Amino acid sequence: MARAEWPAIQRAGYYPCMSSAASREGIVSFERARRLVDQHAAGVRCGDVETVDLLAGLGRVLAEEIVADRDFPPFNRATRDGYAVRAEDVAEIPARLEVVGEVKAGDRLEVGVGTVGRGQAVEIMTGAPVPAGADAVVMVEHTAIAEGFDAGRHAGKFVDVERGIGSGANLVARGAEARARQRLLNRGRRMDSAAVAIAAAVGKSRVQVFRRPRVAVLATGDELVEIEATPGASQIRNSNSYSLAAQVQAAGGEAVRLAVAPDERRRLRELIEEGLRCDLLLLTGGVSMGKYDLVEAVLGELKADFYFTGAEIQPGRPVVFGSCGFDDADGGFAADTRARAPAPHRKYFFGLPGNPVSTMVTFELFVRPMMEALGGQTAQRLIFLRARLRSEIRTKTGLKRFLPGVVSGEFETAEVELARWQGSGDIAALAGANCYVVIPADRERIEAGEWVAVMMR
Ligand code: AMP
Ligand code: MG
Repeated sequence: MARAEWPAIQRAGYYPCMSSAASREGIVSFERARRLVDQHAAGVRCGDVETVDLLAGLGRVLAEEIVADRDFPPFNRATRDGYAVRAEDVAEIPARLEVVGEVKAGDRLEVGVGTVGRGQAVEIMTGAPVPAGADAVVMVEHTAIAEGFDAGRHAGKFVDVERGIGSGANLVARGAEARARQRLLNRGRRMDSAAVAIAAAVGKSRVQVFRRPRVAVLATGDELVEIEATPGASQIRNSNSYSLAAQVQAAGGEAVRLAVAPDERRRLRELIEEGLRCDLLLLTGGVSMGKYDLVEAVLGELKADFYFTGAEIQPGRPVVFGSCGFDDADGGFAADTRARAPAPHRKYFFGLPGNPVSTMVTFELFVRPMMEALGGQTAQRLIFLRARLRSEIRTKTGLKRFLPGVVSGEFETAEVELARWQGSGDIAALAGANCYVVIPADRERIEAGEWVAVMMR
């Protein structure tokens, strides 16, 4: 949707200077907020690339395609220990076949046994190349040795096949998994253990990955002290900068923790400008409706565009998403040119609510997709899983809720219940939880035994 079509819903009478930001939608549904982030994320350009050792690439985003260097498998590969045979020879069973050789994994093809002819079999091991002439492998469990058999023609080793099999049984044909030069891993894919296996299999001991996005973390609030300090009676330690830095790292970024910003415009603005030098700026606190919640006002002074200034969720309702014009080379734009800055020179920011659980939930819901895009990763859909509710939930309608929960059970049985918590400041409750239970905005009561959506964390 073009920006001009976006309805400009204002938070009435809240901050007049915002009216300059035409794209502002105000408070939007969770799904709309996520869409807006996804739309902007789809337009970002990711940064430089670097080459790292294969295992150092685990968790990083591939900046190159990984292609098959030859056919996979490179030969018709036996998948069972047994006998390589011609399927037509065992169409009628039991069938007695002459064992004319043996082939084990790693045996060179040309040193093999020649061709398996009619009435013949070759003893074969898992992973060995199936010799020419044979088109199936009979499992050793379905055979019996008939040593010293002499049918008057010759003496030797014979095997009785007790079960018929079709052509192609117990082998993978050359190139069936992938053909030479076929793409096995896409650019933009995060490397997991399966991707490492593929890179290793095609001989990539080093891989090209995108640079980690640098994400500035700026906590705001006069009550905050650094974690090394002893807080005064009305002060608290700045835990959000650390939880966010941890989430940034876990999502593949590099966190740059800035000094705590006081609830004072001039210093807050300085620190925001510093944060805009990174690829993404995360602020926490100061986005609610209080008299000293200055984040939006200061961003407004910097001619920010706001895409939303709240989402109908709990916790995390005051979350803000927007961008500012910024040119790294220039050391920033003057305020009057910021509004006109073209797309590549815009820096995105999120104003996350200060309550620690809200901060962490809103990171997962909104910041992660933007960070992934900045890190070169292809867009990922947010998917919730389902678990059976252990005990009834009663709540108010109007907001989509992401409440700390505990998934329990084992194997195919997953049950979930809400964690006991004191609201969105309760990090102790969050630490004891392993998921968020996702409660639709229109549900007042969910019965025990119902299936509910959960977002694992
Ligand atoms: P605010 O969003 O600024 O109104 O803050 C909401 C609540 O979160 C208040 O109780 C703050 O003290 C708390 N809070 C804000 N920032 C942080 C932080 N960096 N670390 C821990 N708690 C915070
Ligand atoms: Mg505050």
